[in-house]
Amino acid sequence: MTPEIERMYIDSEWVEAEDGATFDVLNPADQSVIARVANGARREIHRAVEAAHAAFKGWAALPPKDRGRVLLRIQALMEERRDDLARLVTLENGKPFEEARKEVQFALGYFGWFAEEARRIAGEWVPSPQPGKRYWVLRQPIGPVAAVTPWNFPATMVTRKIAPALAAGCSVVLKPASATPLTALALARITQDAGLPRGVFNVLTTSRSRLVGDELLTHPLIRKIGFTGSTEVGKGIMAAAARQVTRLSFELGGNAPFIVFEDADFGPALDGAVAMKFLRVGGQSCICANRIYIQRSIADRFIPAFVDAVKRLVVAPGFEPGAQVGPLINEETRAKVHALVEDAVERGARLATGGHYLTEGPYAKGFFYAPTVLLDVTDAMPIAREEIFGPAAPLLVFDTEEEVVRRANATTFGLAAYFYTRDTARLVRVAEQLEYGLVGANDATGYTHEIPFGGFKESGLGREGGHEGIEEYTEVKSVVVNLG
Ligand code: NAP
Ligand code: MG
Repeated sequence: MTPEIERMYIDSEWVEAEDGATFDVLNPADQSVIARVANGARREIHRAVEAAHAAFKGWAALPPKDRGRVLLRIQALMEERRDDLARLVTLENGKPFEEARKEVQFALGYFGWFAEEARRIAGEWVPSPQPGKRYWVLRQPIGPVAAVTPWNFPATMVTRKIAPALAAGCSVVLKPASATPLTALALARITQDAGLPRGVFNVLTTSRSRLVGDELLTHPLIRKIGFTGSTEVGKGIMAAAARQVTRLSFELGGNAPFIVFEDADFGPALDGAVAMKFLRVGGQSCICANRIYIQRSIADRFIPAFVDAVKRLVVAPGFEPGAQVGPLINEETRAKVHALVEDAVERGARLATGGHYLTEGPYAKGFFYAPTVLLDVTDAMPIAREEIFGPAAPLLVFDTEEEVVRRANATTFGLAAYFYTRDTARLVRVAEQLEYGLVGANDATGYTHEIPFGGFKESGLGREGGHEGIEEYTEVKSVVVNLG
């Protein structure tokens, strides 16, 4: 028996691809096929853009408070269905179920935050330098938006874009990652049940990403692209968008330094380092610690404690109670992590634990990798320069504050950085000098809805969340009024 096809959501209808094509979604814990999903092509892309275009003016014309009401209903339905959504997240992404529940709880909060922010998109009446003139500055929704999201947070990556876009009055065509389209489709169902008007939100499922670049992102009716994914793909999109100067927001890759000064509060620094490396999708998060710098005077104490903590991590399929680290998303990702680890060892790093695939018993069919700690890593090694995106922690040692700040900033990335110190003056100095969009000072919990999130340098463009998040989906218009 062939499983039923999961349809995509276009113009408030559930549709298959015109040619009937599908792609499979796998459970990364055992490689079983969990769904066959409609594989959209040119026709579906154009239908979705046209639906978003047709819906835009009506949605934009609603008072923000009324748009906010719909968003609050979406939030409430997400909360009601939280555990069902979390099950989908674990099934298609692999992360532990408890972590998936936290993700969904966090993801739905974007609707609440932006429902309120919608009411505060205010303009200005600017005092005129001349008599007889008035200057009126207003913000308007930019138009139909194309959103492209990755697989590591199948719920949050979607809501962090669509909540501000919808709140601002934009319509959206979402292209979720082909590894994790099911959560996005469940969100589409929720928007339908919440009464979001026809065509305002469309989910285009497809594994044909080249076509997405050629037909969706460069479509003349698309006024804005919100993309989260790799820096490499982002650069390609930026080049293509140049053709029509489409507005862009990018959340791209990272290479986060995690710095532990000798005056740090030891326990929280240790827990923070383990959590920021291993307990966010098993290291597959753009803000995960990628390089852990320890001041030499405490290295003898910190390193063994860190290695012990990593050895105690519970690696298991996401639905196992107590699971802390699940499988990686696919073989390509696992092979990349392993290649970086092996390369580091060849260049002189030492393995303190891990460094291999997990292939026995409950791990046999999934993409599991042993939590890994590498010692004697240098800044020049690829594992310290590239985004690892997996459960491997390179440990590096430093001597002075000036040195570690310089080393931390010596990268083309600039998304997140963390440091631990109890010296207040140092806290301020280092926070000011780190060239990163998010800085955790004695904190390794990441960002929240109320603050802008985004990257310096090649880690991104624009911000998501905060007041800034909604402005990304607006255009500014200056009206010069001549009173004659
Ligand atoms: P990716 O390969 O760049 O894919 C991201 C999205 O873009 C997916 O939906 C993907 O579709 C699509 N895509 C791929 N190639 C495309 C193309 N040529 N044209 C248009 N769309 C294309 O990234 P990933 O491997 O899924 O995710 C990992 C990366 O995302 C990491 O580098 C990570 O740092 C970054 N990330 C950043 C943030 C942040 O907030 N800064 C958050 C999460 C992840 P398919 O799924 O079909 O390939
Ligand atoms: Mg990819």
